[in-house]
Parts: sequence; structure tokens; C-alpha cells
Amino acid sequence: MLLGCIADDFTGATDLANTLSRHGMRTVQIIGEPTGLPPDTDAIVVALKSRTIPAKDAVAQSLAACRWLKQHGARQIYFKYCSTFDSTDAGNIGPVADALLDELGSSFTIACPAFPENGRTIYMGHLFVGQVLLSDSSMRHHPLTPMLDSNLVNVLARQTPHRTGLVAHATVKQGAGAIAAAFAELQSRGIRHAIIDAIEDIDLHYLGEAVANLDVVTGGSGAAIGLPENFRKAGLLSKRENVKPLAPVGGGGVVLSGSSSAATLAQVAAMSAEHPAFAIDVAALFSNKDKAIGEVLLWAVEKLKASPTLIYASAPPEKVSEIQSRFGREKAGAVIEEAIAAIATGLAKSGVRRFVVAGGETSGAVVSALGVKALEIGPQISPGVPATLSYGEPRYALALKSGNFGGPEFFSEALEALK
Ligand code: ADP
Repeated sequence: MLLGCIADDFTGATDLANTLSRHGMRTVQIIGEPTGLPPDTDAIVVALKSRTIPAKDAVAQSLAACRWLKQHGARQIYFKYCSTFDSTDAGNIGPVADALLDELGSSFTIACPAFPENGRTIYMGHLFVGQVLLSDSSMRHHPLTPMLDSNLVNVLARQTPHRTGLVAHATVKQGAGAIAAAFAELQSRGIRHAIIDAIEDIDLHYLGEAVANLDVVTGGSGAAIGLPENFRKAGLLSKRENVKPLAPVGGGGVVLSGSSSAATLAQVAAMSAEHPAFAIDVAALFSNKDKAIGEVLLWAVEKLKASPTLIYASAPPEKVSEIQSRFGREKAGAVIEEAIAAIATGLAKSGVRRFVVAGGETSGAVVSALGVKALEIGPQISPGVPATLSYGEPRYALALKSGNFGGPEFFSEALEALK
């Protein structure tokens, strides 16, 4: 293993694994705290569910993953979080980055959530989502991590007792040498965390070269695009190979959607227009969960004989608000996640092996319920989302999608990609 990665959620882990694998590293994603021996690969991404848990728990889990990765040969540690820097003043990006630095005896790292291919860019330390500032985007209203400040230098400063600084685009665009000189200058001023401006992929390639000797790198999936080349230059990674197609699993394919993000709603509408679709009745789940799940399964097993099918809890914002005010936001979320996970295991029992899952939390619930411990990474379906294949028996073909990723036809594209 060359690169050891720790991701703070499951779809984020898959996103990073996709980036590394597209840039020529054989990558495996491990679900949850790793045990045993690592598979023979160039990079391992440990997928935690630590984005919104208390900071001390996120630190403990991340350190455990870091120690395991280092024990098994990782030469550099990458901490992956969301491209919209999802966090609150209580953490967890600052505390985890600080703990990883302390663990490895280092005093400097970078923070760069930019992902230009998906419209996340950073200029003067301010994060943009498409054409608007982060704090003007829908992230402003995120239920758990509302992002009200686009200035990441300040956001991160509130999460760490240490000093934060900026490498501005005027420097970044001059290349790796200029960025490395900026690192030295920032460190001479006692700065421990540097936000890096990045507008285009070329900025991230320059950044990749500049961080070759850092013990810890933190960012979204985009900031990892330059890292494989460092290992290649050092003669540690073979020539770039294309991502290999995954072994087929066959059988019917189902889409399970527990995301109500804007991109997912468009995908649900597109698939419902052409294929059988079942809208989960949240109130029925609350009155008799087993009966409601049984009805979904009966329906789906029948429909899957003839066509791919969609099962979704996704709803427009006003309906989600209504459900949340009736049942409680967290309770509704948890009950829906459990129900979708139970539907996944019920379908798996009836032989379904191809699952497309929409939603970060929802993906976590489904993958855990299916007992999946590790994922092989296949070709990209859409930016940030690869086809994956679980290890162990039975093997599941899975596409795990963050809420806001993918175009309107993503579900059909994913089913097509999961053989
Ligand atoms: P995303 O990646 O879009 O944020 P997640 O799966 O991470 O999606 O989170 C969506 C959350 O919203 C989950 O906890 C899910 O159970 C919950 N949810 C889904 N549909 C509804 C709904 N109709 N009403 C209330 N909550 C919902």
C-alpha cells in the first residue's frame, strides 16, 4: 500500500476511491474500522461514518484507521471530507486533521475541498458551488451541517486552536514550486492548516506535486488527483492502466433512494417516467413498519422479473418538512434509513445482486445491512460515482451516489453500468 485514506462518509469514500483508481492506483474501499490484513493494492480508502458524530469519536475512529494504515505500509495519509466542507464549529475537519498531524509528528497540512468537475471551486479561500458562494447554495439549509460562511480559512480557524492560512490562486497557478515555497512561508509564521485555492484540475495537479512530502493531506476527492503521479515518479507505481471492468453478477437491478437532494429528485422523476416506481409511505412505516416493508418487497420482487425498479422515500422540500415536523427530523431519517436497509436485505434474500443507492447516509445503512466489508472499484459512471463490486459472498454490484451527484439519467446509466 502506498496511500492510506480515511473518509468521513461512505459515498465520499467511493468518490475518492474513484478518483484514485481513475488515476492509475489499484484501490479498495474498506467499510468501517479495518481489521485483518489489507488486500494487495496501491491505495486503501477506509470509509467511516464520522462526519457528524461528536468530534472526540471522529478523532478516535480516524486515529484507529490511521494506525492500521501506517502499520500496513501507508506512506502518506489522506483525510477525505465533503467537497462542500460539511462541518460545524464543533468539528470534525479541524479536530481530525490536528489529531492525524499529532499522531504522525507533523506540524503542517493543507485543506482543499475543491472538485472543479462537479462545480466546487475555491478562490481567495472562498468556496463556490457552481456559480454561487457556498453560503448562498442549498448547503445553507443543510439539516446537520448548515454552511453559513464561505471563507474556509475562517471556518477551519473555528475548528482548531492552531493558525490557519491561505495559498491564493495567484501562487497556485505558478505551479508546485511556488506552492511549496508558500508552504514554507506559512509554516515560518506558525500556520498549521493552509486552505488552497483551486479553480481547475490543473491547480490540483500542481497541488498534488507540492504535497508529495507531507505526511497528512486533507481535502475532497479532487485534491487527490495529483497524488498518484508522485508515487509513479518515485518508481513505486507502475505505468497508468485503465480501470478494469468488474465481474458481472447478473439478475435484476433495483434503485433505492433515500436522498431528497435536488439532483436525486430529478433522477427519481426521470426513472419513474419509464420504469415501475414505488414511493415509500413514511406514515405507514411509522404505523406498522413490518407490514409496510412487506408490501414494498412483494411489489418489487414481482416487478423485478420484468424490469429494473425504483423504490424511493425522496420527496420535495415541503413534503420533507411536513414529515419532519410530524415525526421529528432525526427519527424520520432513521426510520426511513432502516426501512430502506431492510428492503435491501429482503431483496438480497430473493436473489437481487445489483443495487443503485442514492444518498450518503442511505448508502451507509444499505451497505452495512448487506454485510459488505470491502468494495472493489470499477469504471466511473458519473463524476464522483464509480461502479463497485463487494468482496465476499454473495458479491453485490453497487453504485453509491451522494445526493447531489449525477445528471437526470443517472439511475439508468448506473443500472446499465452494473452488469
Ligand atoms: P443526501 O446524500 O442527499 O444528503 P442522505 O441519505 O445522506 O442523502 O440523507 C437523507 C436523509 O433524509 C436520510 O436520513 C433519509 O432517511 C431522510 N429522508 C429521505 N426521505 C425523506 C422524507 N421523505 N422525509 C424525511 N426524511 C427523509
